[in-house]
Amino acid sequence: MKYCVSLLSAFLLFSESSWAQSATAPPKSVQKALSKVSADNYKAHVQYLADDKLQGRLPGTPGYQMAVEYVVDQLKKAGVEPAGDNGSFTQQVQLRRAFTEPDAALQLQNTAGQATALKAGEEFILYPNPEVPRTSVTAAPLVFAGYGISAPGLGYDDYAGLDVKGKVVVVTREEPKQFPAAVRLYNIDVLTILQTAARHGAVGVLLAFPKPSSKLPNFSRGVVSVLGPDGKVSVSRSYAGGQIQVLGAVNAATLNQLFAGAATDTATAFATLRAGRAASAPLLPRVSATQSSRYQDIASFNVVGKILGSDPQLRAEYVVHSAHLDHMGIAAPVLGDSLYNGAHDNATGVASLLEIASAYKKLKQKPRRSILIVAVTGEEMGLLGSAYFAQNPTVPKAQLVANINTDMPTIIAPLLSVVALGRRIPPWPCL
Ligand SMILES: [Zn+2]
Repeated sequence: MKYCVSLLSAFLLFSESSWAQSATAPPKSVQKALSKVSADNYKAHVQYLADDKLQGRLPGTPGYQMAVEYVVDQLKKAGVEPAGDNGSFTQQVQLRRAFTEPDAALQLQNTAGQATALKAGEEFILYPNPEVPRTSVTAAPLVFAGYGISAPGLGYDDYAGLDVKGKVVVVTREEPKQFPAAVRLYNIDVLTILQTAARHGAVGVLLAFPKPSSKLPNFSRGVVSVLGPDGKVSVSRSYAGGQIQVLGAVNAATLNQLFAGAATDTATAFATLRAGRAASAPLLPRVSATQSSRYQDIASFNVVGKILGSDPQLRAEYVVHSAHLDHMGIAAPVLGDSLYNGAHDNATGVASLLEIASAYKKLKQKPRRSILIVAVTGEEMGLLGSAYFAQNPTVPKAQLVANINTDMPTIIAPLLSVVALGRRIPPWPCL
């Protein structure tokens, strides 16, 4: 299959720098490796993983476990060694699906002491807390903290001169257009916002959706995190430790209420933000919130295999090839079909991973560094399996030197470019 050949060429070009630079035909050794890739095998992997009987490969379901078993079997057949927990091919990833109970309450208190309860689901929503089943804040002062960014390196700080200790910060979900996309996305990621707020001493965060047309997030399927072996949250996209008691979202009308009586109004504050300047300000109402969370704990697994490198020294370093194995399971029907097979997303990526593993194993001269083949869980729930593996790799963390991830490869078109998203140390390692 053309894609596999193209993608594998891209991987192998790192071992042949002169070829990479001259962009001429690949050398014989690489051509030989490419000839090991089987289009029939690739097709068979996609067909199995995307079959209805796997029910959309949702972590925690028998269908996902069938996918795990399939990948383990294929790695064994290819002669790949196990590199998961305790000499096995799997790494346990303990997922926790947290739900906010319907009794969640958010109340505003004005300067005269009058309290108004907001409508759950319409005017506000509270994120479930994955670690502490009952949390609350009582009559906490509110502070508007713009985008919630504190990045003096970028010359921008919503927290400059702002006292948020013991307070709840209100942060807009509008995007700061002045920063390049990658910088912007990192800085307005919910986890970054929470960590920044916690670092400044806040006890709660309300994310404000300032457009009247914006809908609040929907947590009816819960919010999934990963627990570590100590039972505490190890990976979460919306929890940064116990200091932030309450994380909520409010709509545009509620945001206007929060600004009632303040020295500035939403129109002025947002005009200043859009002009690239911070517009942080204390707000007059106080906020009280209570919530309970309930949990559904799910055992899931990453699959990890290893191919030993050929260089006696460099084999202690690992180049990781990864792809996510999970998909969405059964969800909202599309044209009457509620089973999300995930053939493209990401059975094709896993098929690539398996064929890459198999091609490496068939090479007479193995790459100098060792190769880790990692199929991860919980990607569709927020890159959870990969984040857990990055935090708790089954080989020493310092020995991981590169990761090449494959997600939704477009197998009907040639691969024309490879974009590096980051690197640990210059220069690029040679496989
Ligand atoms: Zn994907």
